[in-house]
Amino acid sequence: MSDRVDAVVVGSGPNGLAAAVTLARAGLQVRVYERADGIGGGASTRELTLPGFRHDVCSAVHPLAFESRFFREFGLASRVRFAVPEISYAHPLDGGRAGIAYRDLDRTREGLGGDGVAYARLMAPLVERASAVASFTGGSLLRLPADPLTASLFGARAIEQGSAAWNLRFRQDAAPAMITGVSAHSILPQPSLAAAGAGLALAAYGHARGWPLPIGGSQAIADAMADDLRAHGGKIVTGHEVVSLAELPAARVVLLDVTPAALIRIAGDAVPAAYRRALARFRYGDGVAKVDFALSDPVPWANPAVREAGTVHLGGTRAEIAASENAVGAGRLSENPYVLAAQPSLFDAARAPAGEHTLWAYTHVPAGSPADREEAIVRQIERFAPGFRDTILASRSRSAVEVARDNPNYPGGDISAGAPTMAQLLRRPTLGPDPWRTPIPGVYLCSASTSPGPGVHGLGGWWAALSALRHEFGTRALPDLSPR
Ligand SMILES: Cc1cc2nc3c(=O)[nH]c(=O)nc-3n(C[C@H](O)[C@H](O)[C@H](O)COP(=O)(O)OP(=O)(O)OC[C@H]3O[C@@H](n4cnc5c(N)ncnc54)[C@H](O)[C@@H]3O)c2cc1C
Repeated sequence: MSDRVDAVVVGSGPNGLAAAVTLARAGLQVRVYERADGIGGGASTRELTLPGFRHDVCSAVHPLAFESRFFREFGLASRVRFAVPEISYAHPLDGGRAGIAYRDLDRTREGLGGDGVAYARLMAPLVERASAVASFTGGSLLRLPADPLTASLFGARAIEQGSAAWNLRFRQDAAPAMITGVSAHSILPQPSLAAAGAGLALAAYGHARGWPLPIGGSQAIADAMADDLRAHGGKIVTGHEVVSLAELPAARVVLLDVTPAALIRIAGDAVPAAYRRALARFRYGDGVAKVDFALSDPVPWANPAVREAGTVHLGGTRAEIAASENAVGAGRLSENPYVLAAQPSLFDAARAPAGEHTLWAYTHVPAGSPADREEAIVRQIERFAPGFRDTILASRSRSAVEVARDNPNYPGGDISAGAPTMAQLLRRPTLGPDPWRTPIPGVYLCSASTSPGPGVHGLGGWWAALSALRHEFGTRALPDLSPR
């Protein structure tokens, strides 16, 4: 392998691969270094329990697969097969009841009884403008929104659902529980502006084009990008942890799919003091403890509609979930935890041996918690699916400490690579219209610690690569990323 390339990318998560693909499609010679033995970072799929059961190690559900500008340019929907459940997410409640977020907003409204109209009025303007919402939230929030009407409709709703006024429009418990269940993806105190913004955007995608699951698992997304990269001359070196910029081959640009803390370690003395201080102010959030299950049968949810959902939000009412999330925010484990679950094998038979199933589930824990949360997760599932325990053939439980050990981009188990608070969505990781460019010549940060933040969308990598192309190579044209 020649030791001179145009561009080096450190890390093969979705953002690292998006950066690498963008640079390779601009005609550059690109090399990617990945510390793990396989590629994909948060988009990887493995047999974690029993032979034949394929589990998503991190991400499982992809609300941005069809809405991310990068994935649209890349033509992801034509490169990877997706299953799109009719029910994006379900929210079981006690007594066999459930709030059901159908892709079809009208059907959702009908299912929500007395609160149906209030829910539909909250969501409809965002669902109609889901692509504009994705565009507004898919870059640096410091840039002026291209569609101010969408930004103001979105902002007003986020302020309402992120404040003490969040219950004013609702009379029953299912609709507000659904909003809090989806907002809790952000691992932030409830109610809060940033959690509500994340929740409303995700809910809008759920009622627009749905929450897709890749056939074959999240690995299929990483593999599609790696295939395109290799087809355009790029190389990927796995099993190589980069500890210093000095060890890298000579290159015009280096893009780091790592956290700000790792950038400081890797770049060492090359980091100017003021930038080092700014990065040191970047805060990591609370963590995740995850359990993957191999099951003999589908989960026996008390409410039959929940059996058709790709994603399930557990924890009960809005007040219960807020209490659980706020306990974690205060540094405590919750006895009645919020649990996020996905049921990929209902939509993709290849995830498990015939007739058997996988279940992906995690809960939130204080940063760096060593707690094994399997029993707490099983109990919360049993509450809404009596008999679940009897379907478990095998499981693999990882504490937040183990999640962080598996991937250093999740310090303390923080799967967002930096708390997505309002302040840290504006300054991600530092304040400025081009947060991907560092003051170190030729060095860019491209991970989820940069705008627009967490999730499998490739946008951090795409924006970082476009910035590098503009500043280091004088290229303003968008590279054609379409399949060819
Ligand atoms: C349990 C869990 C569940 C999630 N669920 C979802 C979901 O359902 N949907 C969704 O959209 N998102 C989900 N996410 C979040 C999503 O996976 C991440 O936001 C996304 O993967 C971030 O992409 P990235 O490229 O920035 O970082 P990562 O995907 O974390 O990739 C970083 C890569 O860089 C490598 N690396 C780091 N340091 C070095 C180094 N020094 N040298 C070489 N290589 C290095 C790592 O090994 C890793 O492969 C989940 C995450 C977790 C952990």
